[in-house]
Amino acid sequence: MCYYYYMEIKVTTITCKRCGYTWVPRKTDIRLCAKCKTPYFDRERKPKNEKEGEIKNE
Ligand SMILES: [Zn+2]
Repeated sequence: MCYYYYMEIKVTTITCKRCGYTWVPRKTDIRLCAKCKTPYFDRERKPKNEKEGEIKNE
């Protein structure tokens, strides 16, 4: 099998949903976007109605 080694290369990246910046965290405890410093990099701006808050690509 020549596919498994791709599994070995596991790079964890985080993409900020606010500014779109992607980085590799040095710590597992990530609190802020490395670029725009928002603590809400992992979530979209909270919609008024969460049930209608589907992720849309802009
Ligand atoms: Zn950001």
